[in-house]
Amino acid sequence: MEITRSTPLTQFPGVGEARAKRLEKLGLTAAGDLLCWYPRDYEDRRRVYTIREAPLEGRVCVAAMAAEHPRLSRIRTGLELVQVKVVDHTGALHLTFFNQSYMERAIRAGEEYIFYGAVEEQGRRRTMVNPVFERTDRQSFTGCIMPIYRLTAGISNHLLASLTRQALPCAAGAAETLPQHIRQEYQLAAAEFSIKNIHFPESEEALALARRRLAFEELFYLAVGLCFLKERRDQGGAGRTVPLRPKEEFLALLPFSPTGAQSRVMDETAADMASGRPMNRLVQGDVGSGKTAVAAYAGWLCARSGHQAALMAPTEVLAEQHFRSLSALLSPAGVRVGLLTGSMPAAEKRRTRAALAAGEIDFVAGTHALISDGVEFAALALIVADEQHRFGVAQRAALAAKGGESLPPHVLVMSATPIPRTLALMIYGDLDVSVIDQLPPGRTPVSTYVVREDKRQRMYHFVRQQVSEGRQVYIICPAVEENPDAALPGEESPALNLKAVKTYAEKLQREVFPDLRVDVLHGRMRPREKEAAMSAFASGQTQVLVSTTVVEVGVDVPNASLIIIENADRFGLSQLHQLRGRVGRGSHPSHCVLITSTRSREAMERLHTLASTTDGFRIAEEDLKARGPGDFFGSRQHGLPQMKLADLSGDMRLLSQAQQAARTLLEQDPQLTRPENRPVLERVRQLFADTPDIFN
Ligand code: ADP
Ligand code: MG
Repeated sequence: MEITRSTPLTQFPGVGEARAKRLEKLGLTAAGDLLCWYPRDYEDRRRVYTIREAPLEGRVCVAAMAAEHPRLSRIRTGLELVQVKVVDHTGALHLTFFNQSYMERAIRAGEEYIFYGAVEEQGRRRTMVNPVFERTDRQSFTGCIMPIYRLTAGISNHLLASLTRQALPCAAGAAETLPQHIRQEYQLAAAEFSIKNIHFPESEEALALARRRLAFEELFYLAVGLCFLKERRDQGGAGRTVPLRPKEEFLALLPFSPTGAQSRVMDETAADMASGRPMNRLVQGDVGSGKTAVAAYAGWLCARSGHQAALMAPTEVLAEQHFRSLSALLSPAGVRVGLLTGSMPAAEKRRTRAALAAGEIDFVAGTHALISDGVEFAALALIVADEQHRFGVAQRAALAAKGGESLPPHVLVMSATPIPRTLALMIYGDLDVSVIDQLPPGRTPVSTYVVREDKRQRMYHFVRQQVSEGRQVYIICPAVEENPDAALPGEESPALNLKAVKTYAEKLQREVFPDLRVDVLHGRMRPREKEAAMSAFASGQTQVLVSTTVVEVGVDVPNASLIIIENADRFGLSQLHQLRGRVGRGSHPSHCVLITSTRSREAMERLHTLASTTDGFRIAEEDLKARGPGDFFGSRQHGLPQMKLADLSGDMRLLSQAQQAARTLLEQDPQLTRPENRPVLERVRQLFADTPDIFN
């Protein structure tokens, strides 16, 4: 059979309808798809050992001959055992297969095989359980560097590898999608070589070359796409002009004077909005640096000139808080503030939507419900996305389209997640960046302690002491996130954890703090209950708030001075830093207690890192090192096309080379209209297929 890229997998021997369905789950339907399904890892199966020499750690290949006919036995109902002794000139190896009765016939006495598995030793007896094997004269998945693929139920690695091997010949015709001069300049391997070697590397060197080329390719197309986005914006039509106003008018509403950094960023934002071109600005500032004031200022400017503004938050709790504080701040100045979240009662939502469409709300706070269909604005001039890392390129593009036939709104993205520079460049390559690098005066750094379970009583004592001084306390339990995809590593079922939060709060109230006002907050509560719990805490009525991580971002109660985080080792460092940022927002000395019963030294070290620094950037970098960017941003939360090979945190040099190559190419051929650049344009189109409007 002649295999081309479009040959359906159903034409491959051994792929029936059932398997084809399962492969389709992985997005694999044709031969060409297999070639793009890169291994997630490799096993070096090149070295073949004798039985005596085989090392006892890891899985290894051993060549040996079956010395007998395999024996099948049933020890218990449902458990079948096949045992067979294999030998070479150095000794014997005893194989056991569980519940694979067909092995009785698959191995023949006198035949030579290569077995791949973990060798164990009991006394002088060497054993191997459930090895994979093949005949020495028909080696295909031993004696080589074996690719390890991401799998799905019913599809084994072995099957996927053998299908891919069969599909490999069609790599020969692989069109070279990178322009020749770029390949030369950056010394990149050819497409065919790279595809072959990413799957079945001839050597470590060949694998490194293949990976570099393919990772470069990913980064290059991404960079070209982002250049397009930026280009489109730079030449892009006009934005709504929001005229400047005397800043003092706004500052008179604020209960404090802005820091120098806040003031500077306010000016940058105002200048952008007055420029006549659409603003696209990222405001970065560590937790507590006072980003809300900047958003409020920008929204106020819009309202004053008869425009509308929207502030979008990642959680309902945060959206409601913004609604409360914006109302308090801006209503006295006549700004009409509204709220729109997904779980508001339908009638209320309808009313808010109507008011937005009629221009009767000037400034609306809300969740992603704000960019859902059916929300129309009379004169939307500004969108602020708070805590951006859940708000990426695609959402920005969707929003830009909200302008409809009228002019696109200005976009202000605010983030406390300190993004390492290279990563920011990639994700926000098309944004201008402002940094609030200063905390409001009078803050004392939060003291952080790592403690073990045995200090629990002392800690409760500490809670009491803080409360007696008039302060308030958060106690955080790891539990359901509002986004179920973002469940914590090692977490059991959300239901279980939810119960844990509630029962823990009840127990605390009953047995430990009967005389204090203890309340509970979690993401699955009804919006009204959540709102009530949050405002009771904000107003000081509740003294101890037992909560899940719904308070993680943005929640602001300056009187809270102590946060206790249970099972702290289950959280990522950046997340802990965010949680810690809930205290130390006022002038009171504040504390963060990390409780853990972990035995892992590594986990302890991470917690101590957090205790020793309050530098968000350092913490983010540690996190990135330990967990990789995938975790850092949650699943594709950055909204960028997914990278298969390139590691956004690690391949910094490659990243800057790819960006440089993209820029050079676009300087020579800005619209990629030259015939030799067509393939590049095609690939970028595919990559950004989910991002509306990039090419218009
Ligand atoms: P974040 O950057 O984390 O969003 P917020 O905007 O919530 O920070 O501000 C944190 C706290 O600091 C709030 O209680 C806010 O009122 C207060 N704050 C902000 N700016 C100043 C300032 N310049 N002086 C004093 N307090 C400030
Ligand atoms: Mg905030």
